[in-house]
Amino acid sequence: MTKNKFSWLHVLLIDDSQSILSFVSSVLEDNYGISNIYQATSATEGIQILRESKHFNLLFIDLNMPNMDGIQLLKKIKDINYNGYIAIMSGVATRIISSVELLANEYQLNYVGTLIKPLHESDFDKIFSKLGKSRTSKDTIESLRNYEIIRAIKNNDLKILYQPQVSLIDRKFIGVEALCRIEHPRLGMVSPDRFIDKAEESELILHITMAVFKKAFSDWSKWKQMGLNIIISINVSPTNLQQPEFADYIFSMIEQNNVPPEMLCIEVTENILAEDRSLELSNISRLNMRGIKIALDDFGKEHATIDRLQKLPINYVKLDKSYFIDHKGSNHQLNLLTTTLALSEKLHISTCAEGIESSEAMALATSIKCDLAQGYFIAKPMHAKEIIPWAHQWDKST
Ligand code: C2E
Ligand code: CA
Ligand code: CA
Repeated sequence: MTKNKFSWLHVLLIDDSQSILSFVSSVLEDNYGISNIYQATSATEGIQILRESKHFNLLFIDLNMPNMDGIQLLKKIKDINYNGYIAIMSGVATRIISSVELLANEYQLNYVGTLIKPLHESDFDKIFSKLGKSRTSKDTIESLRNYEIIRAIKNNDLKILYQPQVSLIDRKFIGVEALCRIEHPRLGMVSPDRFIDKAEESELILHITMAVFKKAFSDWSKWKQMGLNIIISINVSPTNLQQPEFADYIFSMIEQNNVPPEMLCIEVTENILAEDRSLELSNISRLNMRGIKIALDDFGKEHATIDRLQKLPINYVKLDKSYFIDHKGSNHQLNLLTTTLALSEKLHISTCAEGIESSEAMALATSIKCDLAQGYFIAKPMHAKEIIPWAHQWDKST
């Protein structure tokens, strides 16, 4: 098989035997050109790693480990909504293996095969021949390399597009979300799906976030001078919130740029707050106490727990686009949506419907009484200089 064809894979190996871990690592590296390989020597550690990082897309798991067996492990993997590939390694009887395979399918995991111990180098090809036929296209998108990200930051090739958010109550233009891109010399405008996860593996994400804040504030000031006073929403990643000085950094940025705190909204994703993470919580609480708005992003995409709305200092909840794009949602989804809306109202949390692509979706969001909406039907993400003309046009049409 062609080497380097699989360099896009981020592999996690879970096995209690160090010699197996070393053997598999060396095969993956030498024969398949994979450099992103992580090892866990227990199921608990493996789950912990998976919870903390979303970029793994291939798992090798041992069926027999002390403390947690393969069945329990599969259930845990399913529960955290891992959606990459899974390969099993085992020395147990084939009958047990086939029941585990059945279970993997039942859980709708992307099972790609079993390696029988003792492992042989040649057995890996049958696993790798199944990769690339993934269910989600996102898994197969190749990330940019670190040097490409560094080059973009250095050369000022990090661009920001802004997507308008409007009120569903009076149709007023309320704010914009900043969405970053890399202008690549060969690939053109590259979407964040191809570099944010990668950047999060290192300090690079901190540089990206700083660059986004700087540019976004400078654009905000220009709009302000031209008479447009809107809220600017910026996405931050878990790594940012784990920096003890993050809130202070934002405070100094808003002061330097004369941005009133209530005109800034910081979007955080709910999975980062799944566990008790005191640094993250302390940062968002400090930001919120100063008047900066906090939005809980992608709500409902993964395991949505309603009680988090009550526990976190948030002003907005952004309902994931999956609700509105394919709005033939299941009953369970619709229930979650209406419960979320009712609770948000009680807690004075505003709701924003994401992924509004059609007039039907806009009508649905209005009828269930979302406060705000964002999506291609209203406006696509655009360059800073297009915002004022768009605002005039939107005003005229309403
Ligand atoms: P997100 O925060 O959920 O942003 C919304 C995404 O939905 C954007 O994708 C936007 O272009 C897309 N979108 C907007 N309206 C519609 C619609 O009607 N239909 C559909 N199908 N999609 C719509 P984009 O720009 O590719 O960004 C992807 C993700 O990358 C963002 O998801 C966010 O999580 C992350 N991201 C973007 N910029 C930054 C950043 O500066 N920092 C960090 N940490 N993450 C960022
Ligand atoms: Ca967002
Ligand atoms: Ca979102």
